[in-house]
Amino acid sequence: MSRADRLAERVAERGLDAVLVTDLVNLRYLTGFTGTNGLALVGRDGLRRFVTDFRYVGRAESEVAGPWERITGERDLLGDVRAALPGGPVTLGFDDAGVSVQTHAKLAAALGEDVALVPAGGLVEAGRMVKDEAELEAIAAAARLADDALRTTLEAGIAGQTERDVAFELETEMRRRGAEPSFPSIVAAGVHGDQPHAEPGDSPIARDVLVTIDWGARVGGYCSDCTRTFATGTEVAADALAVYALVQRAQAVALEAIHAGVTGREADQAARALIEGAGHGEHFGHGLGHGVGLEVHEEPRLSKAGETPLAAGHVVTVEPGVYVPGRHGVRIEDLVVVTPDGTRILSSLSKDLTVVA
Ligand code: ZN
Ligand code: ZN
Repeated sequence: MSRADRLAERVAERGLDAVLVTDLVNLRYLTGFTGTNGLALVGRDGLRRFVTDFRYVGRAESEVAGPWERITGERDLLGDVRAALPGGPVTLGFDDAGVSVQTHAKLAAALGEDVALVPAGGLVEAGRMVKDEAELEAIAAAARLADDALRTTLEAGIAGQTERDVAFELETEMRRRGAEPSFPSIVAAGVHGDQPHAEPGDSPIARDVLVTIDWGARVGGYCSDCTRTFATGTEVAADALAVYALVQRAQAVALEAIHAGVTGREADQAARALIEGAGHGEHFGHGLGHGVGLEVHEEPRLSKAGETPLAAGHVVTVEPGVYVPGRHGVRIEDLVVVTPDGTRILSSLSKDLTVVA
């Protein structure tokens, strides 16, 4: 069954006649369209309409095929929605998480009184969580490319360079290999590592400290995401080494806990209990992980609020971290495919503390 057919089933289950898809990532997932102005309507009686403006007609011809009826609208496509819907009263779902109040007002005015707009956010995202074979292959390729790029970058050593230099080299290496970074790389050395999302800075990286590198590549639209924490010498402070060992253990325990059927909250709790038991609960201030696909952060969430049961084909990160203010930080992140009885890990770099001088 096609992605649009599966979406149409969810639309019917919600009691809607159709859904309006305006989010560009959802639009790409459904139709293949990579332009920056378009929308789709999916609903009963085989309604599969795609609307873009004249600038993207050529692109849509090559990218949007299959069941889609292509329509050329005005720049502001909202005015074209009514004509693309069946006549008579229509119950139309829209993405309430992504449509602004202003857009909603414009849309409601353009649709008129016989179209009822109903909040229906998350309908496309629900389908995006389970990846098909081609998606899994793209994500695995992104992970391989990112790992290879980091290996090459580390050959030059990192002590004495600035965090920014290392991030620049790493991102350049990913581009040399034909990919874009999937997000701005994090390189955080020593005390700077106490911030989970540190921006690379301008001071030289010292010897004998921990350095956290969080990076990813994008291949065929699909993202990878990985973190490793390295040592820049063999004389790293004992408390930093203890935190490393704790996070490594927590990451392994979380991986052990994950398989289809476990909720994101249960997976998060497996790592969190260990970290709390070691007295670092308040230093693990983020969730265990998140889904990865066309976006680097997507559903499902592995966190205290993660009620979605994991399913085979979900791609998620497993990334506990401990950040001790004014001292150091450690995060270890793998990208994994959830399987019926465990996980398939896509990240290939060692998780034992590795010295990179
Ligand atoms: Zn990451
Ligand atoms: Zn992540």
